[in-house]
Amino acid sequence: MVKGRRAIGLMGGTFNPIHYGHLVAAEAARDAFDLDQVIFIPSGQPPHKSEVFVANPEHRYLMTFLAIVSNQRFEIARVEIDRSGPSYTSDTLSYFNSVDSTVAWYFITGADAILDIVTWHDPESIFRHAQLIAASRPGYSLKKIQALERQLGPESIARVHPLEVPALAISSSQIRERLKQGLSIKYLVPEAVEHYIAKNHVYGALKA
Ligand code: NAP
Repeated sequence: MVKGRRAIGLMGGTFNPIHYGHLVAAEAARDAFDLDQVIFIPSGQPPHKSEVFVANPEHRYLMTFLAIVSNQRFEIARVEIDRSGPSYTSDTLSYFNSVDSTVAWYFITGADAILDIVTWHDPESIFRHAQLIAASRPGYSLKKIQALERQLGPESIARVHPLEVPALAISSSQIRERLKQGLSIKYLVPEAVEHYIAKNHVYGALKA
C-alpha cells in the first residue's frame, strides 16, 4: 500500500442473514490490511442464487444495518440494493472507484464465492478496481485459491489475499436451517438481528 493512501474494505455478501462470522471476518480484514473502514454491501439481486430462499433486500439491508451500527469503523451502502438488475460486483467496484480513485479498495467476501470469479461479470474490471480478500473457514485448503492462478494468471492472483477466519464456522445456511427446525440462533447473530428476524418473520413461517 502507498504510504498515506486511504484503504477501504467493501464487504460483499447476500447476508441472508448476517451473522457473527461475517462481522469477525470484516474486523479481521480491517486489522490485517490496516483498513480505515469497512463498508458492508448487501446484494440486491444476487447473480448466482436460484435454488436458495433469499430474504427480501430491505430485510437483509436492515439486519446488516442493525449488526454493524455500533462499530464506528463499519458502514453500510445501499448501492446494490438500489440498483436494478443483477448485483454485479464489477459495477459496484467501478462505482466506488468513480467516487474516489485515490483510495486502495479491497473487496472482501467468502473464499468459495471468489473461486468462481472467472464466471462473474467482467472479472478484468474487478481486478482493475480492487484487490480481493478471500475469507475462509478453518481448515479450508488454500490450494483451492492457488489453483485459481491457472485461470487468472500471475498478476491477478497476486491481488487475491486469503484470510482464515475461525468464526466463519457459522454460516447463513446453518442459521436458516436452525430456524426451520425451530432451534435457537442466539449467539450466532447479534441480538438485534435475532429479534428482527422473529418480529418480522423474515424467514417465512420459520421462527427465531
Ligand atoms: P455465496 O455463494 O452465498 O457464498 C459462498 C460462501 O462464502 C459461503 O460459505 C458464504 O457464507 C461465504 N460468504 C459470503 N459472503 C461472505 C462475506 N462477506 N464474508 C465471509 N464469508 C462470506 O456468496 P454470495 O453472498 O452470493 O456472494 C458473495 C459476494 O460475491 C457478493 O457480494 C456477490 O454480489 C458477489 N458475487 C458477484 C457475482 C458477479 O458479479 N457476477 C457473482 C457471484 C457473487 P454465508 O452463506 O454464511 O455468507
